[in-house]
Amino acid sequence: RESGQLGRPNSENGGGQDAKNLRVKLVLLGDSGVGKSCIVLRFVRGQFDPTSKVTVGASFLSQTIALQDSTTVKFEIWDTAGQERYAALAPLYYRGASVAVIVYDITSPESFSKAQYWVKELQKHGSPDIVMALVGNKADLHEKREVAVQDGMDYSEKNGMFFIETSAKTADNINELFEVPLIFAFFSDWLQIA
Ligand code: GDP
Repeated sequence: RESGQLGRPNSENGGGQDAKNLRVKLVLLGDSGVGKSCIVLRFVRGQFDPTSKVTVGASFLSQTIALQDSTTVKFEIWDTAGQERYAALAPLYYRGASVAVIVYDITSPESFSKAQYWVKELQKHGSPDIVMALVGNKADLHEKREVAVQDGMDYSEKNGMFFIETSAKTADNINELFEVPLIFAFFSDWLQIA
């Protein structure tokens, strides 16, 4: 799909008329080890399994969720699966993405810096309509926290991003992470159309 409407819903039948069945390409970015795969597995399979690690190539999972008004949203979730260090992958990876989820680990200031690098990359090379969510994962590790909630909040506010702290381990805020950016991405748009 080569339309210029990357921030808009894509309907399942491709016609853009069936607003009840949306398809959303969502890309995950962030340092290796911050928990991207675990977040996706928690969301898609409802489990925390640190051992089931995809190791080859970019992995792809999809999950359909239903919203209150019988609208369904099929997420196509792209996880770099360790390929994030290859800069050449990036443009292909972002292409057509409506939502970018940039993950850091609240126990790792380095991963927070890396998240900021990815935000800048997306601002330079991503679609101007892309909805970005900044995610501080491993929120269950309170005693090891090294990135303050306020730092994540301040940074995301400055960059017009949605912000949330999650735990793939306890499932805290995992569903919210996937639902709230949608509201930003699509419902505001529908309101304008209506
Ligand atoms: P990725 O490289 O970003 O995909 O990271 P993974 O999903 O492979 O996770 C890396 C490590 O972090 C694994 O050992 C997980 O067990 C651990 N991990 C992931 N999410 C959480 C979390 O929310 N809390 C805790 N305590 N550990 C987590």
